[in-house]
Amino acid sequence: MKVGILGGGQLARMLAQAGGPMGVSCMFLSPDPQACAKPFGEHLCVAYDDPDGQHRLAEWADVITYEFENVPEAAVAVLERRRPVYPSSLALAASRDRLVEKDRFRALGLATAEFRAVDSLADLIDGAAEIGLPAILKTRVQGYDGKGQRVLRHSTDLQAAWERLGHVPCILESMVPFDRELSIIAARSRTGDTVHYPVSENYHREGVLRLSLSRAGDAMQPEAEALISRLLRDLDYVGVLALELFQVGDRLLANEMAPRVHNSGHWTIEAAPTSQFENHLRAICGLSLGPTTPIQQAATVNFIGRLPAEAAITAVAGAIPHVYGKAERPGRKVGHVTLLDTPGAPEPFERRLTRLLDVTGVPDLHYSVTAIP
Ligand code: AMP
Repeated sequence: MKVGILGGGQLARMLAQAGGPMGVSCMFLSPDPQACAKPFGEHLCVAYDDPDGQHRLAEWADVITYEFENVPEAAVAVLERRRPVYPSSLALAASRDRLVEKDRFRALGLATAEFRAVDSLADLIDGAAEIGLPAILKTRVQGYDGKGQRVLRHSTDLQAAWERLGHVPCILESMVPFDRELSIIAARSRTGDTVHYPVSENYHREGVLRLSLSRAGDAMQPEAEALISRLLRDLDYVGVLALELFQVGDRLLANEMAPRVHNSGHWTIEAAPTSQFENHLRAICGLSLGPTTPIQQAATVNFIGRLPAEAAITAVAGAIPHVYGKAERPGRKVGHVTLLDTPGAPEPFERRLTRLLDVTGVPDLHYSVTAIP
């Protein structure tokens, strides 16, 4: 099978890496000359809306997918007329605008934070009066990794936040006093079969994911599966979908969904019998899905901004580094390490995780981590 991918970053790279042993070859359409997926397939270095690039991708590929939700909808619509595109443009449109996304969550009975549409400073002032402070103002489109967001604590913060975000359409959300952040990843095949991975428990710093722990057997798993299944059916979804959740007491609130493979599922490469990347390819290529029951407890720790010394990582038993081949830059995801609960390791999982958090620059994060069974 030949898979065309819009985007050439680390998610495209890991998809192509998973595709190799399956006999799947990849072509990436990405305007970034440094696209880190390049070593794993052909790279069309053009703008997403370049007609010649789109033509070449559609001519070559059997099926087309994308690695992030900020690809232009028009580009996906053009390609969809030529080749199957999964997830569909409907799924893309449902997730790229935070207001549309939250309206859908509510319509399907998924609880969310309180929210208001904000199209002007007056809307923001009214919205803040209605839902109260603290609250978070987010741009409706193009936000990721905490970008395009401002936390509002005092009424004097409103005007500056509105100006900082550039007077663009926004959504104002109440600040959720969550106990845990979870995500669930599921895959749905072309014939509607669905598999779920165990929830991941996620920890962010400055809006950027730093740590994901696999939580097989978590008490919230059945509810998380029920919520994502509603979305999968509603969107007649094909591929991997991720749903980010806030847990408050024993309730789950939907924060956002990603119509693609997700950073909180990177541990599935080593710790699940079929990784999220393989299952995404299986789903979009019309193959049956692979099993997801994890082999062992695992965690993903991200390398943000810079790569730690490799020796410091490999000194930790059960730690498997992934380096994406991207230039180091503050705030950028340049790699990750999977930590496995290797039987017979000289130190317990939790202690090894603490060491990895130390060498990846978030030494105090282990104080936040809830007990590891
Ligand atoms: P997002 O881009 O919406 O995933 O936001 C990035 C991170 O900001 C989330 O993972 C949370 O840690 C935090 N965050 C976003 N929205 C809220 C909210 N309404 N209440 C509390 N924390 C939030």
